[in-house]
Amino acid sequence: CGIFGIFNVEQAQKYAFYGIYALQHRGQESVGIAVSDYEKINVVKKTGLVLESISPKDMETLNGNIAIAHVRYSTAGDLGSANAQPLLRKTSLGPVALVHNGNLVNYNTLKAQLQEKGINLYHTSDSELLLALLDAEEYVPEHIRLHPEDTTLLPKVFYALSKVKGAYSVIYMFKDRLVVARDAFGFRPLLVGRLKNALLFASESCSFDILGAQLWREVKPGEVIVVDKKGIRSYQLFQQEKKAMCIFEFVYFSKPESYLFGDWVYKVRKAMGIALAKEDDIIADIVVPVPDSGLVPAIGYSQQKGIPLELGIIRNHYVGRSFIEPTQELRDIKVLMKLNPNRAVLEGKRVVVIDDSLVRGTTSKKIVSMLRRAGAKEVHLRIASPPVVGPCYYGIDTPTKEELIANRFTKEEIQKFIGADSLKYLSLEGLRGCVKDANEFCDACFSGVYPVAYEDTALRIR
Ligand code: 5GP
Ligand code: SF4
Ligand code: MG
Repeated sequence: CGIFGIFNVEQAQKYAFYGIYALQHRGQESVGIAVSDYEKINVVKKTGLVLESISPKDMETLNGNIAIAHVRYSTAGDLGSANAQPLLRKTSLGPVALVHNGNLVNYNTLKAQLQEKGINLYHTSDSELLLALLDAEEYVPEHIRLHPEDTTLLPKVFYALSKVKGAYSVIYMFKDRLVVARDAFGFRPLLVGRLKNALLFASESCSFDILGAQLWREVKPGEVIVVDKKGIRSYQLFQQEKKAMCIFEFVYFSKPESYLFGDWVYKVRKAMGIALAKEDDIIADIVVPVPDSGLVPAIGYSQQKGIPLELGIIRNHYVGRSFIEPTQELRDIKVLMKLNPNRAVLEGKRVVVIDDSLVRGTTSKKIVSMLRRAGAKEVHLRIASPPVVGPCYYGIDTPTKEELIANRFTKEEIQKFIGADSLKYLSLEGLRGCVKDANEFCDACFSGVYPVAYEDTALRIR
């Protein structure tokens, strides 16, 4: 998912609209915007894409100086608008809206505890816990001195954050303030920007670019930031050695022009292509990226190898991300709608085709046969990340273990299934070498080493 927040600007809803539009790649199932005018909170939520789903009429129902927004791609809970965000809840602190990116791993446990206290959940998404827990208890750790402005709200927020386990980058919107937090592992990104007197928060820095805002800094893992008319206050709620920032954000999920986790996505993603080239001794005529996700690693690979990069596959830009379609059938159709071979560069060539990741293997199979039909003499598939061997419990919708092709077949069998002349993945060490400090990253879906135990199913649907 993608989240956005802005405090202290006229017509905050418009900034939220464009800010969340810039994060469309992080989720296409639903979009929502909530706005506060200091008196009341109004919400609009729709299924579908930002530009298509939110109408000018919807926008007229929103007006205020504080806004949050969300684009969703489901990791837990039912599909459809019931779980679209922002979630809004009447709490003992008044109405509170919430946007959450991540996935909580102890949903069932907490749900049961809340019900014992007579606190109900109305949705099926883990995110609702972050709101419902506000009515449970209070907690202020000893190392924290609360600013007088924060003595009512924050003990409740701190309690909620201390009970949930797993991944959360989250923005709470109260009538007069935003409270922003990131889990102690820092699984999902969250950045702070500035635009004149306004403060902005977004999953990726590309959101600030579109609004002409400046990237200021990242929300730190374990940090809670409050912003209201009195100013900005930061609390380091959790302090832990171990970080687990999602390396898959660099592999696939984030836009290449974004800055997050202390680095430029483009730089890290290109380094993956370079590392892959260094591990590879194939001889070929051209390097062909699978658009768009293979493009940046292919640039690194091509430059490192000295083999020219050619656009052997052309993308139709009117089709969304294929992987995000919820069923296999829809994904299949979308791949063919989306990618077309370019015979002009493929005919008679030995082709190295580069993609960012291999998950189910169905995309690559289609691509390889498409390249052959368009005249490629040899097709060598190169993947700029290691085999995906495990599901993600922290907010990326990787399939179940059984659906992951690397769990079903050996590398040789995968190569045969896909129909490539050869297949090579970037090694895990190679991938880890592309980030500044690999020990600060989660790579569980590649390594099988999970930083937080998975306590329950959190209503996973696939
Ligand atoms: P496959 O056919 O192997 O399942 O699909 C691999 C393609 O899906 C790659 O081109 C990659 O860009 C994309 N992909 C890999 N992981 C994810 C993911 O978690 N979410 C989305 N939306 N796409 C993914
Ligand atoms: Fe990211 Fe993979 Fe870890 Fe999930 S398991 S947080 S996708 S690195
Ligand atoms: Mg792709």
